[in-house]
Amino acid sequence: MKKKNSADAAPAAGPNLFGEVPPPAPAKKDGLLAFSYSKMSLYEECPLKYKFKYIDKIKEEPKFYFAFGSAIHSALEFLYSVKNPPFPTIEEVCEAFRTEWNAKSYLEKGYRTQTKSDDDYQKGLLMLKAYYEHNRSRFAPPFLVEYATDVEVDGLLVRTISDRIEHLGGGEITIIDYKTGKDVKREPAQLYMYQKITELDPRLKEKIAETYGTRVASVKIRELLYYHVPTNKEYSFERAGDREIGGFWERALGVADGIRGQKFEPAPGDRQCGWCDYKSLCPVFFGGARPAPQPQLPVPGHIEVLVDRYGRLKEKMQEIQAELDRVAEEISRSAKSGGEYAGNAFTASVSKTAKWAFPNREAVLGVLNQFDLYKKALDVTVAGLGRLLDSPDLAPEARQKLLEQAVRKTAVDIRIIKKGE
Ligand code: SF4
Repeated sequence: MKKKNSADAAPAAGPNLFGEVPPPAPAKKDGLLAFSYSKMSLYEECPLKYKFKYIDKIKEEPKFYFAFGSAIHSALEFLYSVKNPPFPTIEEVCEAFRTEWNAKSYLEKGYRTQTKSDDDYQKGLLMLKAYYEHNRSRFAPPFLVEYATDVEVDGLLVRTISDRIEHLGGGEITIIDYKTGKDVKREPAQLYMYQKITELDPRLKEKIAETYGTRVASVKIRELLYYHVPTNKEYSFERAGDREIGGFWERALGVADGIRGQKFEPAPGDRQCGWCDYKSLCPVFFGGARPAPQPQLPVPGHIEVLVDRYGRLKEKMQEIQAELDRVAEEISRSAKSGGEYAGNAFTASVSKTAKWAFPNREAVLGVLNQFDLYKKALDVTVAGLGRLLDSPDLAPEARQKLLEQAVRKTAVDIRIIKKGE
């Protein structure tokens, strides 16, 4: 059975001393950088920790929570590896869990005592039984289980492993990610990675054709789901918008730039250092004595990464602004005299107002001088001149002269409201 804690695993690699699958080399396949969500988050946590783990390949101590999560994932993989019902019984699922659990000693799994390991084993059995009861009425052969893929994008070779994928028809899919740790608020960043990579993955279309005999033009995520196994709670995220994915991807490319630029400065902090196995190698802790807590200053070299990220974001902003202008113009043309229009997710209130424009400022000043109209215009602005033109007191000849310099334009205001807000 596959290891859940193998998001960075090379496809053909075997387990290391601690049973974890080693990460792939940092660069392979025509200079592509091997990348994943877990690599990205480790680099963001501490670039030096990333270097120790992925560049220097120094093994970390085994962690009992990874061993526990891995055994639960293996049991669920066994449960869903069914092409046609019947599904395995709960006894068979528990047996799969037991086999995985007993493959390593309590020390290899990262427990300090056999008792603690035994307690977690019992906890795992109860968790699987509760999961089975909670879900048995909706067991159905899944589209894919533990689906690992490597996708090339923007100079990266990005690996994702999806716990389970359901095909909803027409190329639309749901990705389910099991969580076995604490039930804390989940950030959707990991799911953004799934969405970005899955929708670019050419193999998925082939898998749909192989499994269902239908060809689809594209694969689209409809829903991303965190399933918290200890509580059977589901945290559902709708397909993220282009803006969220674009922002997330900029962040990922910023991390990739840092790795390529070999920016591996330590980023000490209570949270990351508290769980770090590399303290004895880290200059911040070298000699064993921990220095006084340091303020979280920007890491040297970080500024270059930020500059690149800022530049990319500015470019993207200009692209988005140009696209916004194009779409607004199209809405304006289609809306004719304005009104309310509802899409699936948003409602637009479109209003149009006629405005004067005066392209030749010198000529306008000449007319104002000629008819001594400075005071009436109050200020020589487009609004002031517009008010003057609309005034009934304006002499017909002066109006005529001003009108010769004026152009009537339509100003469009589009107010957008998200449905349900
Ligand atoms: S001890 Fe702290 S600063 Fe040093 S590598 Fe680990 S996380 Fe980074």
